[in-house]
Amino acid sequence: MPDMLDSHLLIAGEAVSGGGRDVHDVLDPATGERSGGVVHATAEDLDRALEAAARGFRTWRNTSADERTAILMKAAGLIRERAKDIGAMITREQGKPLKEGIGETIYCAMLLEFYAGEIKRLYGRTLVRPAGSRVEVQYHPVGPVAGFAAWNFPALNVMRKIGGPLAAGCSTIVKPSEETPAAGLALVQACIDAGVPGDVVQCVFGVPDEVSTHLLGSPVIRKVTFTGSTAVGKHLAKLAAEDLKIATMELGGHGPVLVFADSDIDKALDTMAAAKYRNAGQVCVSPTRFLIEEDVFERFRDGFVERAEKVKVGPGTERDTDMGPMASARGLERMEGLISDATGRGAKLLAGGTRIGNQGFFHQPTVLSEVSTDAEIMNEEPFGPVAILNPMKGEDAMIEEANRLPYGLAAYAWTRDPARRRRLAAEVEAGMLGIDTGAVSAADAPFGGVGWSGYGSEDGREGVLACMVTKTVHEG
Ligand code: NAD
Repeated sequence: MPDMLDSHLLIAGEAVSGGGRDVHDVLDPATGERSGGVVHATAEDLDRALEAAARGFRTWRNTSADERTAILMKAAGLIRERAKDIGAMITREQGKPLKEGIGETIYCAMLLEFYAGEIKRLYGRTLVRPAGSRVEVQYHPVGPVAGFAAWNFPALNVMRKIGGPLAAGCSTIVKPSEETPAAGLALVQACIDAGVPGDVVQCVFGVPDEVSTHLLGSPVIRKVTFTGSTAVGKHLAKLAAEDLKIATMELGGHGPVLVFADSDIDKALDTMAAAKYRNAGQVCVSPTRFLIEEDVFERFRDGFVERAEKVKVGPGTERDTDMGPMASARGLERMEGLISDATGRGAKLLAGGTRIGNQGFFHQPTVLSEVSTDAEIMNEEPFGPVAILNPMKGEDAMIEEANRLPYGLAAYAWTRDPARRRRLAAEVEAGMLGIDTGAVSAADAPFGGVGWSGYGSEDGREGVLACMVTKTVHEG
């Protein structure tokens, strides 16, 4: 596999770089220093990619289900074989511990394997009609897809942009984040190496808004799929609406965690503290607002602080590191602003609170408590290693607070009461609800949010259907 220190474009199966194209630095978040470069596409490159995507769509949609399944299974196998190398690229460019980078890559293979299997189950249906007439509901791939992925999961976010479309029979042009280009590019290369035609899966980089404006301005693209902030998601949804392109938006969240006095507190603490500091909190489903029944507040608070203080922060390349640096200096600045705003409004700082050293982008695992609802951090996704612990009085108030924000991605609850579990499942507004678990993502389960967390699903059968349209054929 080529070393992707300097990431190129993959257009119509060809590695494209040089020729006077702009090259931008990629930084290693553990040092803050340059680790490689990323080539930016020109407008002509993007036009060539669009032409190829139109060609590729015609080829791929007419490739048999058996062949598409076999090719995607082979690609998944190559991704598994290359997981150590791809994991190392993730750590070098995004900062997370190597074991997490490798795990993320394996998860990409699992997702592709699931999608490959789904190809054979994309049935339509025949409706009941009198003899001599019939009505058939068919599913067809929507057309070429443009995908834009964020830097927090450099591989998984890209796989979510290409796996569903490829399974559905669409061609796809993906733009991984320019801050973390290598792993996404390596996944696209694995698909090509396995036999996906180069016109069908392509990878570009550039100035994000220029690339999306160019691609979404073309009638060739019929669907856009984006992972990132709500602000950019709204912008891209408007661009998509101008040409009535369909869209999947996987945007930010503000994960509430409802901790009830009847729960297994030690298990809740172990699970949720690990979930909070995973990937330095830069996870769209990160648990953020802990709403804790007052009877167990002190116990939960003290247990959480104890665990936060034990998290080993260091470079992702070191074996015993639990939490790497934040991915960029932007994340550190954001944390500083949110924490000082919260403490200025009376929040208690119980652990962490500041950057570590001045090399790289390391931040202390942080715990705030008794944070007032008007603090910025109670309303905006912190996307960093900070937990907010607030005491609450009773189930109704906890559900009301969980539903207060316009976001609704992941929510969590800890309770042993079966009737309460059902009430929470009915009333908490979220795309995913984890009850007595921190795991809310699986290859065969739809992943996505409601409200300002976006719309449409990735993963699961829904992730393929999101790239398909129906055609009803009525025969008299
Ligand atoms: P952002 O939305 O500006 O960027 C996220 C990704 O989108 C980046 O990789 C960027 O290259 C790309 N992007 C930005 N503008 C684009 C455009 N016009 N067209 C196409 N792609 C575009 O977010 P950020 O500045 O990286 O982070 C800010 C906040 O966004 C975070 O603090 C967090 O709240 C949220 N975020 C959420 C997720 C998620 O998983 N849902 C991921 C990253 C960021």
